Amino acid sequence: MTTSYANILKPLHLGFTTIKNRVVMGSMHTGLEDRFYNYPKLAAYFGERAKGGVGLIITGGISPNRQGWLLPAGGTMNTLGDIAPHRLVTHAVHKHGAKILMQILHAGRYGYQPFVVSSSPIKSPISPFKPRQLSDKQILDTIDDYVRCASLAQKAGYDGVEIMGSEGYLLNQFLSRHVNQRTDRWGGPIENRMRFAVEIVKAIRAKAGEKFIICFRLSMLDLVHDGNTMDEVITVAKALEQAGITLLNTGIGWHEARIPTIVTSVPRAAFADYTAEVKKHVAIPVIASNRINMPETAEEILAAGKADMVQMARPLLADPFWVNKTATNRVDEINTCIACNQACLDHTFKNQRATCLVNPQAAFETELVYLKTSKPKRIAVIGGGVAGLSAATVAASRGHQVTLFEAAHEVGGQFNLAKVVPGKEEFHETIRYFKVQLEKTGVELRLNTKANREQLEREGFEEVIVATGVVPRALRIDGSDLPQVLSYAEVLRGAPVGQKVAVIGAGGIGFDVSEYLLKPEHQPQPQPLADWQREWGVDPNPNYVSEGGTTAAEVHPPIREIYLLQRKTSALGAGLGKTSGWVHRAQLKKHQVRMLRGVQYKAVTDEGLWIELGGHDQLLRVDTVVVCAGQESVKELMPAAPEKTLANYHIIGGAKLAAELDAKRAIRDGAELAAQL
Ligand code: NAP
Ligand code: SF4
Repeated sequence: MTTSYANILKPLHLGFTTIKNRVVMGSMHTGLEDRFYNYPKLAAYFGERAKGGVGLIITGGISPNRQGWLLPAGGTMNTLGDIAPHRLVTHAVHKHGAKILMQILHAGRYGYQPFVVSSSPIKSPISPFKPRQLSDKQILDTIDDYVRCASLAQKAGYDGVEIMGSEGYLLNQFLSRHVNQRTDRWGGPIENRMRFAVEIVKAIRAKAGEKFIICFRLSMLDLVHDGNTMDEVITVAKALEQAGITLLNTGIGWHEARIPTIVTSVPRAAFADYTAEVKKHVAIPVIASNRINMPETAEEILAAGKADMVQMARPLLADPFWVNKTATNRVDEINTCIACNQACLDHTFKNQRATCLVNPQAAFETELVYLKTSKPKRIAVIGGGVAGLSAATVAASRGHQVTLFEAAHEVGGQFNLAKVVPGKEEFHETIRYFKVQLEKTGVELRLNTKANREQLEREGFEEVIVATGVVPRALRIDGSDLPQVLSYAEVLRGAPVGQKVAVIGAGGIGFDVSEYLLKPEHQPQPQPLADWQREWGVDPNPNYVSEGGTTAAEVHPPIREIYLLQRKTSALGAGLGKTSGWVHRAQLKKHQVRMLRGVQYKAVTDEGLWIELGGHDQLLRVDTVVVCAGQESVKELMPAAPEKTLANYHIIGGAKLAAELDAKRAIRDGAELAAQL
């Protein structure tokens, strides 16, 4: 093979079956699996990924019984009647030569419903429901439920099952002392704590026979107190192998852990060495996971022998054709997952259908369709931010003749600012993706060109898409024209900032700017793994003996004194994403950022920023004031409603609505409009 990704593309022979390459699409809940009537959409979603070349797919978690539900009436497989919709999924995947496992997930005390059970009756910090302790008999009944569930999955055409044993779900709640405080045969030493998982595997293997894949997702690193040591993890891995698993998958960190494991600031492949440590002790194929999003990273892990397969979930939401693009040396065409969680996990936590910020078609394959046009039109897109890029590339891919006007010297808009924020380096990948797409789809790009209506009409465009974006909202108080008052855009473009800073506005950008100002000047970006481990207290020793692989986090004196301010009286950062907001809040707290709410801004003087707080005037003695007070739309190009124009005008993204602007809406707006033209 001449490709440079030979290890990724090598088939994996399991004796009774072969997986065509080393890429696993990991389990991820989309919300579609919970309702039988959504299975045609789920089948289209998985079918698209199978068509895109992935070797093995693992479904979102399906519960073996009611107690195991993650959410009320969540996806369950426990009667013959549950099989039919799943056949749509297995058929859609097999048609393209991929294999598929159904994940059996019993949420245990993570269930957001009143029937929750666990090893011990200890409430989790992420669910309001206190679990009942499973009795000996109930544990044996639960094992039967797992076996029935696996057997039904086999009847539905799945190539096997994955048993979810990590991330703090039920089996992890038995495996680790963090929850398991039993003194019977299911608690105490690791040999007892692992009995539940091992008995499930043995019973499924006995029922399903030898030609059925059983994958077990094991926590390599619990990242909670009283978590397992590596020695205990290895003991469990060996016992599971002995019990009959075919594949061993990696899980990292319990959901309640306060160490990030998947957000964009986690270095790529941060946890592969822990998987490699376990791999030394078992003969079955082992799967690495977490923050693997591009082929170089995946290939490096495999080439170094750290794992036999690599698992990605979000990167395959972002680009279903990840594997085919890798196989044909079109890596620059990959739409990279930027690990933002904004449209996938944050949606799941809000009980909305998961999709992808950079790929709005994900999980909407049957609803957002880019059909070739039979009537190609001349389309002008004004503005090369992500809304305009999305509109231009989708329209051009459908066969329209598209010209993109961008006033600046480069495309990317607000993403050019985001990519300089520490931990957001991945955002440059989206700009790279769109640049390649502009070329591939034949969009004519006019940089440094501010379009005007006369020119657009003279050139005879039939459709004009106004995607002119936003400008930072200016502060309008006395002294806001002083040179020490800067917009977030000026700061992120490199304007000098003093040692003492007031950041006005505590939305996503206020947090981002604070983190930017706290980064030591010479700290490399992206942050090296060893620094990141020290900062978050992750034991760097793959053969760790610390509880759950955690150590004391290193704390350095902050390089700047920062006040982060807002007018609202609610908690700062309350509007940030559910799965990433806590990471940002923890970062700023660690760096002693002083967060003030209920503030009124009075004036900026050479002494600093005057505010009113709790009815009293107060001076914050700062050198610089950075304004992160949201944005205002730029839409001069948009004709007023009754005005007659030669072209049809449309407005999208931040130009349409600056409030709550986010890239997710901008990209979706562009794609939806372009799909209809
Ligand atoms: P934002 O979230 O709307 O926050 C703007 C902040 O400015 C608010 O704290 C608001 O709070 C304050 N503000 C509004 N008008 C003001 C005025 N006239 N004077 C003083 N303060 C004012 O906007 P953003 O931070 O610019 O972010 C823009 C979008 O980007 C957001 O929708 C967000 O989703 C997205 N984003 C997300 C992240 C993330 O981490 N998920 C990161 C960056 C950006 P008060 O009115 O209470 O003062
Ligand atoms: Fe990745 Fe963000 Fe898309 Fe989720 S929404 S798949 S994290 S790019």
